[in-house]
Amino acid sequence: MYSKYLILLFLCLFVVRVYSQDQGKAIRTTFHSISSHDLLNYAAELSSEKYKGRLSGSPEYQAAASWIADQLKHAGVKPGLADNSYFQWFPNAYSEVLTPGSITLLEGNNNQQKEYKFPNEYFPGSNSASGTASGEVVYVGFGISAPELNYDDYKNIDVKGRILVMQTGVPYAGNDSTQLKWEPYSYHRYKFQRAKELGAAGILYIGKIANPNTSHLEGFIYAHISDSVAEELFDGTGQKYAETHAAIVKDVQPNSFPLNNKVKISASTKYFPDSRSCNVIGMIEGSDPILKNEAIIIGAHLDAVGSPGCLFPGALDNASGSADILAAAKALASSEVKPARTIIFVFFGGEECGLYGSKKYMESPVWPKEKVICMINLDMVGNGTGFHLANGKSFPELLTHFTEANDKYLHRDLKASEVRINYGRPRTDGAIFEKAGYKTLSLYTSGSVKPVYYHAPLDNTNALTPEIMEDAAKLLYLGILGLANDHGIGVQ
Ligand SMILES: [Zn+2]
Repeated sequence: MYSKYLILLFLCLFVVRVYSQDQGKAIRTTFHSISSHDLLNYAAELSSEKYKGRLSGSPEYQAAASWIADQLKHAGVKPGLADNSYFQWFPNAYSEVLTPGSITLLEGNNNQQKEYKFPNEYFPGSNSASGTASGEVVYVGFGISAPELNYDDYKNIDVKGRILVMQTGVPYAGNDSTQLKWEPYSYHRYKFQRAKELGAAGILYIGKIANPNTSHLEGFIYAHISDSVAEELFDGTGQKYAETHAAIVKDVQPNSFPLNNKVKISASTKYFPDSRSCNVIGMIEGSDPILKNEAIIIGAHLDAVGSPGCLFPGALDNASGSADILAAAKALASSEVKPARTIIFVFFGGEECGLYGSKKYMESPVWPKEKVICMINLDMVGNGTGFHLANGKSFPELLTHFTEANDKYLHRDLKASEVRINYGRPRTDGAIFEKAGYKTLSLYTSGSVKPVYYHAPLDNTNALTPEIMEDAAKLLYLGILGLANDHGIGVQ
């Protein structure tokens, strides 16, 4: 009796061990097929001039989306939509910026005319109307009228026919329930609408970050200026821009006043109100007859900020994340060890325009939410030496697959944090999934070794570290395969 059990136990161990060895070998083969060379090539393709910075809604974004769909198809990743298509469509108006335009200081405090320089001193507004606006310049803080919060940047100041110098964001800095009340005022669209209602001629928006997440308002012209241009416009007022801004935030008290100079903004754009864009969605069907009804979603935004004045390649943000997912998708599709659960890959469009793609996904999910194990979002995963898995600590059963893979094969610094409620406006596709109740992890690279050029022309492939992209794709391959084959977890 005793020996029979021993033999049985021995057999079990033997079978498991042999199977594991084979599996391990197969997994290692696929693992080693992921190369930094391929990853850099994907990012270089997506960052190239032909896609013009992948502005969602534009034909060039669509060309990039088709390239991704072709890659998925050739890798054997099936279309993710019910109509056997890779494309999930949604409306996406956009503006093409035709030239850098100009910003001219007409009458400064020293009465000298001056042209500001693109791209060092300003960026044109991605959704500016075409034409010219000129007028006296007034500083209006955050450009917010919030009577219920007893805060009004426009209180004692006439802005009709003026050019407004304005901050992004809100004056309240805390991440708590008070921030919820400020959230509606944090949108660029609110601020532009409010300025237009009050008859402003245009806006010089402080912070040189190209951003299509604004609105096109008929006849309304704006541009983004650097902090140093803002500082220069304050010359002669007896106040410093940086100090004024800091005081408004500290006291949450407005302080708007004329800057005693005159500026002209010129913009050359073309508006396409009826355009559309898409998410690219691919799928690897699970190999297990039961578990295949459960899915893991991996997402990254494919779009970037376009070419406002010149090419903004969007290499780190977010050709890197798209490349990482593409490489992981190819590895999982070719893997001899098949994922038991279904894997869904979503390359979001419209993220930079206001999270259009992830919002569209919520309207029309391709998988029942209650059958989704988790969503993993990748944004800016291509510069550094380590990884950060936001929310990972709150889901140890998910995190363990990534830490194990890292400990065994990658040996990178991998940190995780707990879910932290964000009371401000959602800023990533992951935040939209989190809000909808999905278990959501966000993967970033940490320990930047190169300068980060956020929404700027220098965000090209030189800003990437291909080795970390290779390891990100490897981490995804192993981590997702582990999750997909883990019988100890489930949707319940
Ligand atoms: Zn991004």
